[in-house]
Amino acid sequence: MTVVDRLLSAATMPVARSLEQALEGKDIGVHQAAELLNADGLDFYILLMTADHLRKETSGDVVSYVVNRNVNFTNVCVKRCSFCAFSRTYRSQEGYFLPTEEIVRRAREALDFGATEICVQAGLPPDMPGDFYISLCRTLKEAVPEIHIHAFSAEEVLYGCHRSGLSYAEYLGELKNAGVGSLPGTSAEILDDEVRNRISPGRITTQQWIDIVTTAHALGIPTTCTIMYGHVETPQHVAAHLVLLRDLQRRHRGFTEFVPLSFVHTEAPLYTDGLIKGVRPGPTGIEVLKVHAVARLVLNRDIPNIQVSWVKEGLKLAQACLAAGANDFGGTLINESISTAAGATHGQLVRPRDLRRFIRDSRRIPAERSTLYRILHRFDEEDSTILEPLDRISDEETSRFGSYNQLTRTEGFRYAKKFVPAGR
Ligand code: SF4
Repeated sequence: MTVVDRLLSAATMPVARSLEQALEGKDIGVHQAAELLNADGLDFYILLMTADHLRKETSGDVVSYVVNRNVNFTNVCVKRCSFCAFSRTYRSQEGYFLPTEEIVRRAREALDFGATEICVQAGLPPDMPGDFYISLCRTLKEAVPEIHIHAFSAEEVLYGCHRSGLSYAEYLGELKNAGVGSLPGTSAEILDDEVRNRISPGRITTQQWIDIVTTAHALGIPTTCTIMYGHVETPQHVAAHLVLLRDLQRRHRGFTEFVPLSFVHTEAPLYTDGLIKGVRPGPTGIEVLKVHAVARLVLNRDIPNIQVSWVKEGLKLAQACLAAGANDFGGTLINESISTAAGATHGQLVRPRDLRRFIRDSRRIPAERSTLYRILHRFDEEDSTILEPLDRISDEETSRFGSYNQLTRTEGFRYAKKFVPAGR
């Protein structure tokens, strides 16, 4: 009897059957995935161990990370998603908008510090020209051609289409020509319109999200995919979301990774204003582990990269997720505004050496990757003497990167009356 057989023999019957199916490479259905999300007691531990076993079989012992910088260039937004503490109205004193030259400066600085990716996402400013995202990418690509542009959620692409009158395919084609390398799979939250209408009426619909990401895939633009959980959804919603992503991947093969994102409640109106009865203050640590584990079981061979988000979970819980099916530690970020505005307290920069330390302490092999999961550097040996440019910067010097609070208080970045489209 193998160790895995012994493990399964200790689980309760429905859980053991689902885990066995996953180990045999058979699909887990929505009902089964929901059952696994409810696993407790010994079943919970066996679920985690099975996910870890599958991770080892599929992705090996390497845990990757990307050296990247986030640029959330404006917090001014026409929408009012109730889970979002980041957005401001155009009249708000805290509304900011980074000029294009500042976005380019941040990308150049990131490159100087060893970044390979700039991740651009923001609010939806009311008077934005339809071609803004396109001209911003063109300017960025011309100025910093070495950097991979990972930019614009499906919601932003939808907004660009709306403002420009272009179809999804036309707009995405223009973005690709302008230098976009991939899209973040955010704005998915829970891909169920009943849930979406409760937590964010007016948000991009499930079908629009699917149509935009699959059009991107058809045009050769990869995307990530995400879930935001720990609010009003049930295990059935999470399970159906995972199975939907698996089905989409089989048809279009465009997802590079899956990223579970915990709902950060501290400043979110959905929670603070009591907008919906029964809304939860984010997932528990146990739920976080279970979602990563069940994602591994459902998506394993179709989306083999399960990323854990240290900015949502903190480094220690993120490290624990590496033992529950995750094989990617996300990025260095350098700047982060969206989770910080919502009350996340895990900072906005983790140096590569610290990511490597957390990975190595989990008995795994750290490796720097590109956005599209090409391994750039494997750190097989103890690497305390290896320093990347971002490792050399002192805590005091990191103030040069700026903070979310500085963005909202810097006079030169004020949104009011000064929308300056790129290239105009
Ligand atoms: S989640 Fe995005 S679209 Fe919704 S309010 Fe926040 S910034 Fe705007």
